[in-house]
Amino acid sequence: RIAVVGSANIDLVVAVDRLPEAGETVLGADVVYRSGGKGANQAVAALRYGAETSLYAAIGRDTFGTQLANALADEGLDVYLRRDDDRPSGVALVVVDGAGANTITVSAGANDTLSSDGLADLGAALPETDALLLQLEIPLETALDAARRAVAHGVTVTLNASPLPSEITEALWELVALTDVLIVNETEARTLRAGGWDWAQRARSLLDRGPDVAVITLGAEGAVAAKRDQVVTQRGIPVDAVDTTGAGDTFCGVFAAEFSRGGDLRRAMAHACAAGAIATTRVGAREGMPSRTAVAAVLTS
Ligand code: ADP
Repeated sequence: RIAVVGSANIDLVVAVDRLPEAGETVLGADVVYRSGGKGANQAVAALRYGAETSLYAAIGRDTFGTQLANALADEGLDVYLRRDDDRPSGVALVVVDGAGANTITVSAGANDTLSSDGLADLGAALPETDALLLQLEIPLETALDAARRAVAHGVTVTLNASPLPSEITEALWELVALTDVLIVNETEARTLRAGGWDWAQRARSLLDRGPDVAVITLGAEGAVAAKRDQVVTQRGIPVDAVDTTGAGDTFCGVFAAEFSRGGDLRRAMAHACAAGAIATTRVGAREGMPSRTAVAAVLTS
């Protein structure tokens, strides 16, 4: 069983021919509403892959909150939603141009209200939980508290350190030190000052911060993972990518689900990379997220 403590957002997506410059207005296509947020997306990815998955998140009492609650329940997730009276639901304003370039503005809203008091249900579930999966779209203190509780129960903690705050604080390093598996993309690896001549060395350098496993995802190139005595380089699976939104979330959800099954790093990397690649073949973060069977089919073909 996987527990995800993280964000749930409504994404408002508008396609335009050209992204507007500051002060400019451009006309776009009809708005598309999508249920998103890194926490919710990664929970859906783990669930599709076959892991029993619970999501702990906070939403507002607005209509977006109701839409989010319905969408997450429809997925079949075990959801523990705190509904906040004062703050609106989290929203991501996404503008995409014809070439796939985008600008994204996230308003955290109710996600900011997910506090340790909201995690009583998590405490009760931890004895039956194999892995806790965290991202950084919720207050850092809440993520830290969830990680501490998980460690106390011997639950594997996976942290996707995304999005990184503008300032890297001691509290963030403390969270990294508590994690078993750290997953970042290339930009985040640089921000965390991963050093070395190649990505394998940079992944290895992140181990100095305390995790047992450090993974750096490399987009179409695949991903690299380091453990004290092992480096796993997984080449990307060639696909016709139409939308890379959600590839990272798919990777994290599938990695956590697969790695918690037996700790086979090579296998978790192969399955997560295949799943991330498949996710890019459909428009939308969740639309392309594969089942375990679909992942296996790509790996045996
Ligand atoms: P993020 O979106 O968080 O920056 P990445 O772009 O590194 O994450 O993508 C996460 C994973 O998804 C990669 O490690 C890779 O396995 C897969 N992936 C992403 N883009 C592609 C692509 N164009 N082709 C094949 N696989 C991809």
